[in-house]
Amino acid sequence: LQRSAELHARARELTPGGVHSNVRLNAPSVFFERGAGAWLWDVDGRDYVDYLLGQGPNFLGHAPTRVNEAVAAEARRGSVFGAQHVLENEAGELFLDTIGWAERVRFGATGTESDQAALRLARAATGRQKFVRFAGTYHGWLDNVLVKTVDGVTGPGSRGQLAHHVADSYVLPFNDVAALDATLSAHDDIAAVIVEPVMVNNGVIPPVDGFLKHVRRLCDRHGVVLIFDEVVTGFRVALGGAAERYRVRPDLAVYGKAMAGGWPVSAVAGSAELMDLFAGDVVHAGTFNGSVPACAAVIATLGILREDPPYARLEEYGATLMETIVEVGRAHGLPLRVQGLPMAFHVSFGDPALVRDYTGLAVLDLDRYTRFSHTLADHGIWVAGRGIWYVSAAHGEKEMAATRERLYSAAADAAA
Ligand code: PMP
Repeated sequence: LQRSAELHARARELTPGGVHSNVRLNAPSVFFERGAGAWLWDVDGRDYVDYLLGQGPNFLGHAPTRVNEAVAAEARRGSVFGAQHVLENEAGELFLDTIGWAERVRFGATGTESDQAALRLARAATGRQKFVRFAGTYHGWLDNVLVKTVDGVTGPGSRGQLAHHVADSYVLPFNDVAALDATLSAHDDIAAVIVEPVMVNNGVIPPVDGFLKHVRRLCDRHGVVLIFDEVVTGFRVALGGAAERYRVRPDLAVYGKAMAGGWPVSAVAGSAELMDLFAGDVVHAGTFNGSVPACAAVIATLGILREDPPYARLEEYGATLMETIVEVGRAHGLPLRVQGLPMAFHVSFGDPALVRDYTGLAVLDLDRYTRFSHTLADHGIWVAGRGIWYVSAAHGEKEMAATRERLYSAAADAAA
């Protein structure tokens, strides 16, 4: 991989730490040139079945024709007007109709900023300052939300972070209703509970039965705003996201990743009562919010998901893949542990009987998994270094066959 190695060496100087979090997390030094469907090609001409999918956005696969044609057509017409344009209304109507429960939406460019918009609304609505979040979740890289994610320890996630911001939140164990009950009862300064309904960023842990309903009830009792961070789950775990899959309606929800076929678009949506605060003195800004190509991408993506919902196929493909990974591990004496949902699951090395709570990762062998992810890359399977596998609507029989074969050869290699 001569070209990749040269480019990687230069990137280390040019963009320290890597512009992409993947480089930071010790990804293999592969440089990519193009993608199509569920496949990627590197600059040295090798192909990969992709289960990273850009960390989730390429839910329709790479280069989805209808989305990219729509973006190109609008880009030719003009891209950022700095004023109203018809596509934003159209994207808004379609978005709200697809989500179902939400009454208003505002578009943004990244999940990080739409999370901030939701938190600001909650503070404005309640007149309170703090929020509850769960250990191991991720709500973007800004100072007030960034905490260590892997080991569930409360503390700054970065050097240089405003120290006092870490104290803006109460950090509780995921799936722990009693802890939430106690915290909301003990403090009257809590504006919001923000939760990844499926804790994707630390082991892809689904909510235990009734957890989200209990959270909803507790928020109602204490007058606290419930925010679902659906940046990963939105349009992925069901057309209407986790709110639909688990039948719980938040007050606000934040979307990103899968909603625009790979293009950078995010959204905050929710009740009219809260969202209409933006029509008053609550500020939400952003030069690129609701840009023309962004709205075109949303319209085309939601159009595809509504006309040909991939969810049944994803359930099937993902379930088979999860079983295959365990089976491959067993065949080669690798203790591969798989958990999560078919469309986003987590693979690690460790005893499958180990706890399924947020502390799970701390006792697992992350380094071994990272090494394994490099072996997978050597054999033509592209995954994240920390264990999350995403499945796209473009994965089918051909990809399953290639994945199975490549998994077996990678596992043989890893076991040797
Ligand atoms: N929330 C969650 C649950 C996420 O997984 C992410 C991104 N991994 C974000 C927020 C931040 O989104 P973005 O990277 O688009 O800023």
